[in-house]
Amino acid sequence: MTLRFPFDNSYARLPAGFFARVNPTPVAGPRLVKINRELARDLGLDPDALASPEGVEILAGQRVPEGAEPLAAAYSGHQFGHFSPQLGDGRAILLGEVVNRSGARRDIQLKGSGLTPFSRGGDGRAALGPVLREYLVSEAMAALGVPTTRALAAVTTGEPVLREEVLPGAVLTRVASSHIRVGTFQFFASRRNLEGLRQLADHVIERHDPEARMAPRPYRALLDGVIGRQAELIAQWLLLGFIHGVMNTDNMSVSGETIDYGPCAFMDAYDPATVFSSIDRNGRYAYGNQPGIAQWNLARLAECLLPLLADDQDEAVAQAQDALDRFVDLFNDAYLRGLRRKLGLAGDQEGDLALAQDLLGLMAEARADFTLTFRKLADAAAGPTHDGELRALLSGATALDAWLARWRTRLASGGRDPAEAAGAMQLANPAVIPRNHLVEAMIEAAVERQDYGPFEEMLEAVTRPFDPRPDHASYADAPPRSDVPYRTFCGT
Ligand code: AMP
Ligand code: MG
Repeated sequence: MTLRFPFDNSYARLPAGFFARVNPTPVAGPRLVKINRELARDLGLDPDALASPEGVEILAGQRVPEGAEPLAAAYSGHQFGHFSPQLGDGRAILLGEVVNRSGARRDIQLKGSGLTPFSRGGDGRAALGPVLREYLVSEAMAALGVPTTRALAAVTTGEPVLREEVLPGAVLTRVASSHIRVGTFQFFASRRNLEGLRQLADHVIERHDPEARMAPRPYRALLDGVIGRQAELIAQWLLLGFIHGVMNTDNMSVSGETIDYGPCAFMDAYDPATVFSSIDRNGRYAYGNQPGIAQWNLARLAECLLPLLADDQDEAVAQAQDALDRFVDLFNDAYLRGLRRKLGLAGDQEGDLALAQDLLGLMAEARADFTLTFRKLADAAAGPTHDGELRALLSGATALDAWLARWRTRLASGGRDPAEAAGAMQLANPAVIPRNHLVEAMIEAAVERQDYGPFEEMLEAVTRPFDPRPDHASYADAPPRSDVPYRTFCGT
């Protein structure tokens, strides 16, 4: 069996300053954990060949496949508001790009594959826990319909990695429509490398905004494209209770995909100030701050693009400002559209936003589970005899009856019959998300006991979020009440 990757590597054709050519570092004892067979087929790869010893050697970095041009990309980034001029792929290596079955270009990247010229003080490696977490959560996000990088494979390396403790090492094969970040633009802009900046912008237009080429102002159209995608993405995060946790500019993809699943987590009890990441001490990346942070990051992108937006500086600034101002409207539109779907509201009516916000207010008051409340609301759409579980979740919230009456009046005015509304709401409100306590238990089983059963089963459950199998019902449960707040760590 031979494994052939149909590589066509456009990033490797960019000038030398964009990256460092570097091969993955071989590991002691590679072992396959998981292949994403469906994704493999979509990429034109034979899943059996990928799972063969030769395939596993490639996924672990023992062997470079034919046609690959391995490289580590250079980028900069604002980390928690502070600019680092020299970041880059410190533990990731791009093997190359393939064109998938739908004709879309996809990066194939190994994460945890050894040192690169951008590793700085790091070891270039990844631990098994964060690799399984990224595999599971990114695949859950894809199943939830959120733009995201994907997981093609996970392997263990047979080598320990040293974090606060000694942990098993692993490599994740990540697939993305590109790995170009706001920080990639910052890399060239901060070096005043106008030629590089223009080449990068042209590359991104080619890849993500081909229609911008024909626009009167192609680079403005590029900026508009990135802003529009981010507005949609952040709205989807909020509608699902997702907290990215480390929205540094080097972790914001210009493709509009969710990228970098280090300290991310889904909110359980609704509270807009929720923060999980242990290093986010000031709550910069709290759930409710995400739209504002996205706009801040996009302002950094717009600053980078100033020299391309117009020859006249004032005109360039006006263009950038106009583009950024639109973010708020685009985000609000996407968010309200999503809220209407979550509440089952057909058509657009005045007062829909207030109706949704009042429900969120009740949820905050009752510290109700975000995901379960919306799911039980879907049940309640079938009629007042179906709202017992919703009432239990929101018990203690004042004015619940008044809210339910308003909602029912609004539902009826949309012209859908109750069963239809309930069905539509079930497709907008997942039953199953990757619950934090279950993610931790899954990681513990794999790391402490080499038991991948919980990973396999949980992956099945979270990739069918709207229509859970009866035997997966427990994956929908909220966590047991705990006095210890959940904490995540930057999965390095
Ligand atoms: P992150 O916050 O995970 O996006 O990482 C920020 C920067 O640190 C990126 O440039 C990473 O490549 C780099 N980095 C993170 N972990 C490691 C590691 N274990 N070894 C080398 N570089 C790393
Ligand atoms: Mg990153």
